[in-house]
This record gives sequence, C-alpha cells and structure tokens, in this order.
Amino acid sequence: MLPEQRILSLKDKTVFISCIVPVFNEEAVVEKFIERLQFSLRELTNQFEIIVVDDGSCDQTLEKIHQLPKSYNVKLLGLSRNFGKEIALTAGLEHSSGDVTILLDADFQHPIESISVFMQRWAEGYDMVYGIRESRELESYLKRNFARLFYWLMQKITKIDIPNNAGDFRLMDRKIVTALKAFPERTRFMKGLYAWVGYKTIGVPFVVKDRLAGKSSWRFSKLTELAITGITSFSDVPLRVWGWVGFLISFIALVYAIYIITVTLIYGADLPGFPTLVVAIMFLGGIQLLSIGILGEYIARIFTEVKQRPKYLLQIKDGFEE
Ligand code: UDP
Ligand code: MG
Repeated sequence: MLPEQRILSLKDKTVFISCIVPVFNEEAVVEKFIERLQFSLRELTNQFEIIVVDDGSCDQTLEKIHQLPKSYNVKLLGLSRNFGKEIALTAGLEHSSGDVTILLDADFQHPIESISVFMQRWAEGYDMVYGIRESRELESYLKRNFARLFYWLMQKITKIDIPNNAGDFRLMDRKIVTALKAFPERTRFMKGLYAWVGYKTIGVPFVVKDRLAGKSSWRFSKLTELAITGITSFSDVPLRVWGWVGFLISFIALVYAIYIITVTLIYGADLPGFPTLVVAIMFLGGIQLLSIGILGEYIARIFTEVKQRPKYLLQIKDGFEE
C-alpha cells in the first residue's frame, strides 16, 4: 500500500490487521489476553483476524480458545506438538492475510497499547515497526549479559544488522510477510530473517511488563541453542576462522622449530621441554576438536535442510476459509 492509502485506510478503519499470537501452555492468561486484544483492535479497524498458534500445549489452553466467542475473529492453528516459538510464528505468518501483521506474546509482556503506535508508524510509511525493550531489569543478570554478548557477536560476525533488544514484538507490512513466506529454510532464526529482508524499518520503545501469570518457558539451554542457530544461519565466520587460527599456529610452530634446530646445533641436544610438548599437544588437540565441533554445527544444519521435512504439522486449522 502507498503511504497515502495507508493514512486513509487507518482513518477509515479499513486496514486489515492480522495478529499472530503463539501460545504454549498459557491457560492462565490466554482468554483474558485475546479479549483485551480484540477490544483494542476493534478501536483501530473494522477488519481484523487473531491467529492463535497453539504450539502443542498440554494444559487447558486449547479448550479455553475454543470457548472464545465467534465475534473475536479468532482463527486457530494447532501444531501437532511443541515446535518452538520460531516455528509457531512461521506457521502463523504463512496463514496470515492482513495488510499488516502484528506478532505478539500471549503473556501480556508485549503491551497491547503499543499496537496503535505501531499502526501510526506504518501509516507514516514504515514497513516494519519493531518494539525495543526499554529495560531488561526483569531478567536475570546472566540472561541479560548473555544477550548482550550475543548481540555484540552477531554485530561483529554477520553482515546483517540485528537491532539490540528487539524481539519478535513487531508489525510488518504485507510485502514483508510475503517475502518471509517465500523463505524455504527450515532452521529459522526469525530475528535474523527480519533483519535480512530490509525495507523501511523503525524501532519503537516499550516497557516489558512482568508476565501476568504462568511462567516463562525459555530455559537457558533453549536460549543457547537459539543463539547458536542465529549465528550459524547468518554467519560463516566460525567456519572460516579456523583456517586463520591454523595458519597462525603453524607459523608459530615453524618459528619455534627453527629456534630449536638452531639451539640444538649450537648447544647440542638435551631433554628438557617436555612440558612445552604436552601443552602444545593439548592446545592443538583442543583447537582441532573445537573446529570439528563447529563443522558439526553447520553440517547438522545442512542435514536438517536437505531432509526437506515440513517445518511443522498442523493438527487443527479452525476458522480459515479454503
Ligand atoms: N511460546 C511458544 N512455544 C514455545 C515457547 C513459548 O509458542 O515453545 C510462546 C508463549 O506461549 C508466549 C511466547 O511464546 O506467548 C513467549 O514465551 P515466554 O513468555 O515463555 O518467553 P519470554 O517472554 O520469557 O521470552
Ligand atoms: Mg514472556
């Protein structure tokens, strides 16, 4: 849509808004959240859809969603098991048909009030409006610092620019959603993909609230895995750096060899230097294992791509027109 059309359609309340809400064991909040969300959407537009993606919840979440009134315009996608948030979002995106698509969490951590600000920005001509977390104070010291390290590393070793403290909370124009739908890759690192597509982008600060109820399903191991996926899907530096490390070590070894030969020729042979030997062997062994491990990370990813399995399986598809 052209900018003039955007302003007009926002004023006439004719923008078709799709909201994608991934849920995983959110029985405590989901009803209230959808109710509040549809209420806010109604103030902005006359046409909207709320695509709830159930990521294999094993509590009462599904029942709660089924009981929601028809007037809420809820469409339900039920994945056949827990596939993780990235895939749940992908499933939602593949089924969204709005002029704009908004992604937000079901636990009230992403403020619903920000949606109108996002829409305003979109009308101004921005194709992607993302929320920037004002503070990470609610998170543990460890999580915060690892997040910082991760963003710093991504900045250094990838060619894409992932904004700091921006999560999945964002609004996307239809053309971005169409672009994302066309991505065939199975290992999905959404934050990287958002940045990869480009277009006119802007960040809007928001304050993360405490989870209303339930508990965060992110464990440290899961976050680490996500970080590794992020790096290996968008950077080949870890794969290539070992060439340089190897070169450097070989060079040092060569210099050292020349030194030893010279010393032996001048002073004759003797046995000291055993610790040096052990250190050298261990160091090289470590480096080799590490680089093999990194090769493994990439090969594992190639493996999942070539298997060509579907990204997810749907168990439920409610409310969509064929
Ligand atoms: N979520 C999901 N699948 C998962 C884990 C989480 O769909 O495997 C959803 C969850 O229901 C919530 C959103 O993703 O709507 C964010 O999850 P959570 O609040 O646990 O993460 P955090 O806010 O701590 O990053
Ligand atoms: Mg949360």
